Amino acid sequence: MWEMALSRLDATMAILGLNDGMQKYLREPRKIIEVAIPVKMDSSIIEIFKGYRVQHDTNRGPAKGGIRYHQDVTLDEIKALAMLMTWKCAVVGIPFGGAKGGVIVDPTKISINELEKITRRYIFEIIENIGPEKDIPAPDVGTNAQVMAWILDTYSMDKGHSVPGVVTGKPICLGGSQGREEATSRGCVYTILSTLKVLGIDAACLNVVVQGFGNVGSNAAKILFDLGHRIIGLSDVTGAIHNPGGIDPYKVADYIKSGKTLASYPEAQAIGREAIFEIKCDILVPAALENQITASNAAKIKAKIIAEGANGPVTPDADPILAGSNIFIIPDVLCNAGGVTVSYFEWVQGNLAYFWGKREVNLKLRDIMEKAFYDVYNASQKKKVDMRTAASLIAVDRVAEAVTLRGIYP
Ligand code: NAD
Repeated sequence: MWEMALSRLDATMAILGLNDGMQKYLREPRKIIEVAIPVKMDSSIIEIFKGYRVQHDTNRGPAKGGIRYHQDVTLDEIKALAMLMTWKCAVVGIPFGGAKGGVIVDPTKISINELEKITRRYIFEIIENIGPEKDIPAPDVGTNAQVMAWILDTYSMDKGHSVPGVVTGKPICLGGSQGREEATSRGCVYTILSTLKVLGIDAACLNVVVQGFGNVGSNAAKILFDLGHRIIGLSDVTGAIHNPGGIDPYKVADYIKSGKTLASYPEAQAIGREAIFEIKCDILVPAALENQITASNAAKIKAKIIAEGANGPVTPDADPILAGSNIFIIPDVLCNAGGVTVSYFEWVQGNLAYFWGKREVNLKLRDIMEKAFYDVYNASQKKKVDMRTAASLIAVDRVAEAVTLRGIYP
């Protein structure tokens, strides 16, 4: 994933004509932290988990990015995701740089007590490097509002007072923002609605397929369902389901909550997990993990629009194949930027101790997402490049401008 991020950056910098020094500067993360996290497990055995925090850039503001708990976390992946956060914050014009954290652990295989211990020790190990003015973590794959509450508490205990601005994606009662939980999906839907406008597609009832049924995927499916669209395919790590007549994502969520698997949902046909990409649809939302749409399956996709809810779901070698099929891609740095945007709102509200209602949050989110969409779309039309390249050009240019204006210290 790191090679992929660098190759996309190199292509962008070449188009922008950035000098060698700036190219070197933007390729390197500012800080890479690797920590060992010792934890006394419920069995009394001591286990050591490996954790990372990477700050790619802080020229436009404090570093910002989620924390991922997953057994396949690698430093390269975290470096790539941190860089992606830099571009994402720049595309939507919020005053943050980019960061990402990760711990190599399968959170589904440990107890809640062990999860809390891992979180608190991980934060203790990186505590000097985070803070409301330095680096502000948030949820990502495998972490949630409860994990953010432990982060808030650990940091606040260390400082001797409550510091709500240290983390976003917190529970509402601890200073979380209204609308944060579904913000990534809501932002993704705003970019889809703008896409339908520019493509002149009648937005009455479109067929939608969503890969991944976690925070981003399930909320995207629910919001699109509420808007009257037909969810015809869903998948998660357990498998995939298809029903051309439509699937109610609320019922699927309740079914999973009752302890059953998505793949066994009775009101749809179970299909292979990979077959999710072969369903003919109007909108495909990959909202699972990176590298899902590759050169080997891209040609099978029969969607009009791909809205990248996940980070890096399409590999660079799949892009030209999708372009050849005339598929409009809403790139990740734009499409899933709603989460970090409402995280920004949460940070602002926490620092001011003044909280907004959900309507205000959603309206402000819509304004930012629509402006960012049209910035990218207009650039793509003007420069005759695809949406991914246009988003990248805008983001890298904004960060390079900040670096130039600030200069190199000392
Ligand atoms: P999550 O852990 O809540 O959900 C991930 C989902 O993907 C789960 O349903 C899991 O079962 C499913 N999944 C995993 N492997 C799969 C596979 N091979 N096939 C099908 N489904 C699979 O995570 P999330 O927070 O929803 O994040 C999903 C993606 O969105 C990630 O790429 C993340 O970086 C990105 N993202 C998340 C946010 C956020 O606010 N949560 C913001 C921006 C981007």
